[in-house]
Formats: sequence, C-alpha cells, structure tokens
Amino acid sequence: MKLRIIYDKDLCIGNKACHAIDPKHFIEAEEKVNLKDAVKEKNIQVLEGNYYTEEAEKFIEAAKACPVNAIGIIDEETEEEIVTTKVKGEEARRVKANYDDTKEFVIDPAGYFLIRINREEKKIEVASCNEKNKIELITYGEKPIDIYQTILNKEKVNIRKDHAAYLGRELQKAYIALKNDLEYVQDEEIILNK
Ligand code: SF4
Repeated sequence: MKLRIIYDKDLCIGNKACHAIDPKHFIEAEEKVNLKDAVKEKNIQVLEGNYYTEEAEKFIEAAKACPVNAIGIIDEETEEEIVTTKVKGEEARRVKANYDDTKEFVIDPAGYFLIRINREEKKIEVASCNEKNKIELITYGEKPIDIYQTILNKEKVNIRKDHAAYLGRELQKAYIALKNDLEYVQDEEIILNK
C-alpha cells in the first residue's frame, strides 16, 4: 500500500499515543515525537513509502489515536485521505446547552461517590458506594485522569454517563483546590478568592 504520512509537529501535544502504537515509526523526541526517515520542512514531516498491510495498518491506527489530528495519511494511489488532519464542521448542528438540575437530575441506581482531599498525603480520595451505602472501593491519586480512568476502566465501576461526567468535574475541582490550598466541599463551588 503506497502511503503518504504527514505529521505536523506544531500541533503535537506529546501524549505519545502514536508512539505507543507504532514505536518503529513515531520515535520519541524529548516532549514530542518525530516521524522516522521523514522529509522535514519546518515542523511538517512527510514520509512516503510502499508498506505491507500490517505496517500500513499500524500507521493508520497510530494516526487515528492522535487526539489533535496531527497525523494525516493519504493513499497515494487513489489520493484518498485515509486519516485527515482537518477538522470538518460545516454540517455540524449548533445547540444551546440547557439543563435544569432541579427537574432533570436522575439518581444513578449503581450508587454514588464520596470525594475528599487528603492534604497530608496530597492526594484526592474517592469512595465508591453502592446503593446500600456500602463503600466498595476507595481510589486515591493525584491527578483526576488517573483516578477516573482507574475507577471506570480498570476497576470497571459501571455508572451512568452523566455520573461519569460528574465524577470528572468533581475531581477537577478537588485537584484545583488541592493545588491552590483552597477548601473543597463536594457539590459546592470552590471559593477562589479567600
Ligand atoms: S499522538 Fe499526536 S499528539 Fe500524541 S505524540 Fe503522537 S502526534 Fe503528538
């Protein structure tokens, strides 16, 4: 398969998802990556080649994993953009957000979370409680992403989507409070100016 791979290093935020999938071609370069053997023009790196299916699939998987669309892939025979770096939004619907917590809130039958800051250990702690008020899991960590990924994907705590969004929101508040020595009370706004 003849492919043209285009990598825009300016867009790269260095999360290295591409490297994790295809370390042979996306080489670590300090905080970002470089596309191995690519021709460089300023921060654009271009690589062209004829690849076996398995190698081509790795390129495509790596490009699709990029959260900022920094990697584009073009089929050189058909000129089809297999993975595009352009965000297309011309046909997107635009809606004004609206939600009334007092009328639309739905309790998650799976249970609830108790979230607090442990200042001595500089950690955030989350107790996952079932519907019978029994704590089934205590998860602690420093960064919101570590905690919610552990709860949702590793420990497979099965909750509603809006409850997962709530967890992320509360964890970010707790993180800001911990970092800035502010009071954190679950479900309340953080008071920024003490
Ligand atoms: S996945 Fe995208 S943002 Fe992450 S390192 Fe690779 S190119 Fe950069």
